[in-house]
Amino acid sequence: MDHDVVVVGAGPVGARLATVLAERGVDVLLMEEHASIGRPFQCAGLVNPWSMAQVGLEHTVLQEIDGATIHGPHHASVSVGVPGETRTSAVCRNRFDEGVAAQAIHAGSKLMLSTTATGLLPIEGRGWRVHHHHEGTTGTTTCRLVVGADGAHSRVRHWLRSGRPKEIMIGNQVEVTGFHTEDRWLEMFTGESIAPGFFAWAIPTGFGTHRIGLWSSPDRLDDASPETLLDNLMTTSRHAPRFVDCQIVARFCGPIPGGMVRRPVRERAMLFGDAAGLAKPTTGGGIGPGFKQVSMVADALAEAIHDDNLSENMLKKIARPWDDLKRHQTRARALRNLFLTESDDETLERHVSVFAQPEVTEMINRLGDIEHPVPLGLEMLRKVPSFRPLALRAGWAMLTA
Ligand SMILES: Cc1cc2nc3c(=O)[nH]c(=O)nc-3n(C[C@H](O)[C@H](O)[C@H](O)COP(=O)(O)OP(=O)(O)OC[C@H]3O[C@@H](n4cnc5c(N)ncnc54)[C@H](O)[C@@H]3O)c2cc1C
Repeated sequence: MDHDVVVVGAGPVGARLATVLAERGVDVLLMEEHASIGRPFQCAGLVNPWSMAQVGLEHTVLQEIDGATIHGPHHASVSVGVPGETRTSAVCRNRFDEGVAAQAIHAGSKLMLSTTATGLLPIEGRGWRVHHHHEGTTGTTTCRLVVGADGAHSRVRHWLRSGRPKEIMIGNQVEVTGFHTEDRWLEMFTGESIAPGFFAWAIPTGFGTHRIGLWSSPDRLDDASPETLLDNLMTTSRHAPRFVDCQIVARFCGPIPGGMVRRPVRERAMLFGDAAGLAKPTTGGGIGPGFKQVSMVADALAEAIHDDNLSENMLKKIARPWDDLKRHQTRARALRNLFLTESDDETLERHVSVFAQPEVTEMINRLGDIEHPVPLGLEMLRKVPSFRPLALRAGWAMLTA
């Protein structure tokens, strides 16, 4: 075999996996279809403290963020967070991705740019022949384990017949000058005419710029496109006056896959990150769950690669901790649906007013964790009288999730 592992896709998750495996003595080839890392960039660039600590790329942070102001569809709004306590960081995604890939190379992985994986052929009992295309020529590389870290529209996932993510949302974002938010604070905008079932955001990115974006699911868009909705937010919504001085300097659009695929593990093959359908159902963030997925298997996977013990059963055993991730995301999705996605504008407005009650805001500040929204959601259902009517539906949603 040419390599122990071929990782298809040098996004942050593929590169992180390459790093931890190479650090454990595994021979890894990272294959990336683009000529450079981190482009095109399709992300709001929020990285939570745990993920940042994994890679130590603090120099890529543009702005640390302590809290959020959430706007209801009509008048209600609430500010959550504690000044001076960083909850997340807005990074320069290009520099962040380049930093993770540089760590992979430093740890000993090889990187092939401008190289698109075009097909997989099993080599009976030994591994895979990965077909690829590089600057007008075709070639093959062999490996004992193939990893699909090739993003939301993963071709590796398709070749392995691993199933599809439970839901694929669409994200649309512009980068603007001329918008203002409170220092170290982001904003979230809700409402059927802004982001049906989901929310829009304004994230400060330092240097006087902001990322303004939204996400929603295709089945909720009817005839509207994500571009039209973003335009509505900035030109006709009740927030429009705040955007009058904005100049758009960049546009981004991309898919957000949520809900782990049915078979993220096959004989001598695994899926990671967006390819596995790992973005968080509550925020759409995919870097944190992807890094978590990597850290959960790093040691056992490296050992199995050294032992060439890569049967489907063995890899399933190694990937068993992912069941927790999957379970957590399923419950988080059920709570998101209950509080946000299945609420009409009147209900949403009521929810935001309840969040603004001092004892509820205190609870959010105490328990609110972007990575683990379930404990907060459950506590609110238990302790906040206005949310008690939701508790039965929540219980049922959890049971059937
Ligand atoms: C508008 C928007 C905002 C977002 N905001 C956030 C946020 O704030 N925080 C956050 O954590 N997440 C956010 N996300 C999600 C985040 O961008 C992804 O979850 C994250 O990039 C997933 O990383 P990945 O490495 O799994 O996949 P990707 O970053 O998609 O990387 C996959 C790589 O594989 C390469 N590739 C694909 N096919 C092939 C092939 N056949 N051969 C070779 N290479 C291939 C691609 O070129 C790419 O480089 C956002 C997404 C969108 C759309």
